[in-house]
Amino acid sequence: MRILKIKLHWQILIAFILAVLFGYFIPQGVPYVSWMGDIFLRALKMVIIPLVFSSIISGVTSMGDGKNLGRLGLKTMAYYLTTSTLAILTGLAVVNVVKPGVGVDLGFSKSVEGLAEQAGSVRDIFYRLIPENIIDSMARGDILPVIFFAILFGFFITRADENYRLSLTNFFDSIFQVMMKVTLFIIRFTPLGIFGIVASEVQRNAGELASIAGSLAVYSLCVVGALLFHALVSLPLIVRVMGKAKPYAHLKNMTVPLLTAFSTSSSSATLPLTMEALENQSGVSNKISSFTLPLGATINMDGTALYECVAAMFIAQAYGVDLTFTQQVLVVVTALLASIGAAGIPMAGLVMITVVLSAVGLPLEGIGLILAVDRILDMIRTSVNVWSDSCGAVIIARTEKEETLVGV
Ligand code: ASP
Repeated sequence: MRILKIKLHWQILIAFILAVLFGYFIPQGVPYVSWMGDIFLRALKMVIIPLVFSSIISGVTSMGDGKNLGRLGLKTMAYYLTTSTLAILTGLAVVNVVKPGVGVDLGFSKSVEGLAEQAGSVRDIFYRLIPENIIDSMARGDILPVIFFAILFGFFITRADENYRLSLTNFFDSIFQVMMKVTLFIIRFTPLGIFGIVASEVQRNAGELASIAGSLAVYSLCVVGALLFHALVSLPLIVRVMGKAKPYAHLKNMTVPLLTAFSTSSSSATLPLTMEALENQSGVSNKISSFTLPLGATINMDGTALYECVAAMFIAQAYGVDLTFTQQVLVVVTALLASIGAAGIPMAGLVMITVVLSAVGLPLEGIGLILAVDRILDMIRTSVNVWSDSCGAVIIARTEKEETLVGV
């Protein structure tokens, strides 16, 4: 499995380099390959609704029966939402200060004319969370109301009578398993998708290549810098203050799952190791870890949330779009929801970036810009996702008066 993933990583790099050369030296050939990019984007869009819907329901129902959803559930959700928001704000601050995309000027400002109407006021954003008709929202691919409805639906599954609860939980878990497989199948075609998208972007922006490459490097540094800050400064502080525990001792205990997250780019695949490390190395009880970790692996993704925000802002900057305050709020909210909706599998964050881009009305082709570096950034953000889940488990265990092995 690992060999396959490393291979995919190389395939993506090779496809990217070939696409740049192709788009630059054989521009007349681009119309013959651009369809691969179009089909790839369509396929990504195809999986979003069923993947997100089943991922969230399966995550929320994994919280167990109604009893668990009381105090523990509230604490866990509060931790997830706070740290993910903090991660997004860290990313937003960095991307606003460094402005990695400014000056790339892809000259597509025409295609983003509808932007102003798309954003609306902050109040509209909250209105838009509530679907008038869930089928209509799904059909239009309007993800925010779908996420809202899925959380509500999942929550009330846990409140239903046992026989309904079990069959619905099983049903949505099964859909989720299948959708993850479908997504991974599509992701295998990333090199071809990249080739199509990047070749046509290069042909269109032939004069700008050097500046795009430079910006991409700065963009990657922004993502990595913000991720490291969140993982090594913000989260440890929270562990120390809220959890009264030793964050760096816990970090050491987490070496194996974090390295696994890094090499597999999958929080879900890492889950068994995360649970093992928390219980046996950091001394968190099975009651807490089995409750918080599976949920965290699906809905708590600080690294992904941060990445969604930085990537969307970078693309906006590259398209020469100056996002207003309200539009940036919309990016923050959608990045948060996108991270909740992202599955714990490789490149799920890339699928979800389409959601953030469409929410603020940016062209999906912008993804072509960041594809080349997505895989490596995925490895780092997945480790941050797993690290945040594990910090949450320690904090909740400590606030439940557990001794653990990392308490102060
Ligand atoms: N690969 C990430 C994870 O499994 C999700 C993402 O693509 O951001 O946590």
